[in-house]
Amino acid sequence: MSTARTISVAMVVLASCTVLPSTTSGQTLEAAAKLIGGAAAGLGLHESAHVVADVASGVAPGLKKVTFGPIPFFAITHDAVTPGREFVISSAGFWMQHAVNEYLFATHPTLHDERAPVLKGLLAFNILTSVAYSGAAFARTGPNERDTRGMALSAGVDEPVIGALILVPAILDTARYFGRDSRWIVWGSRAVKIGGALLVVKAIRQG
Ligand SMILES: [Zn+2]
Repeated sequence: MSTARTISVAMVVLASCTVLPSTTSGQTLEAAAKLIGGAAAGLGLHESAHVVADVASGVAPGLKKVTFGPIPFFAITHDAVTPGREFVISSAGFWMQHAVNEYLFATHPTLHDERAPVLKGLLAFNILTSVAYSGAAFARTGPNERDTRGMALSAGVDEPVIGALILVPAILDTARYFGRDSRWIVWGSRAVKIGGALLVVKAIRQG
């Protein structure tokens, strides 16, 4: 089984369009550039996490062009590995997103009210990417190289379950961004992120 992970460059654009209306008019252009930069950094972080996981697993990453409907993607591919390693490689992008979001909320608890377009672009990319992936997971559509499919196959669970484990933190992190930081929401988000990562135990047992 040759699997890989994909991520859409379109998410960078979408992330930018979503957050842009909240920027101040006088500095819109500069803020827009910073926002796109933040979203692009999010994409870079997600993909680097896959590459690091590949290298740590002793496989050489490769690059492949794939499409999801009309949207061009690129996928970072690798040779077949054990289910445990496959789960780690496929999950690495989301783990990076989770870690970055937790870091952002810890260091910028009032990010929504701050003029921080780079960080907002980064957070928007992470959230929208998770939402897009969960949609693909629920519908079981998209390129075979998609992260959620690699996670589902290696852990031996239905792909929609993976979709839920990705979508719930995205919803709760959105609530946190808008100032809903009750213990239930904060720890609910963290618990689902950790729970999803713990599926690695099930994946290791698969192999
Ligand atoms: Zn990915």
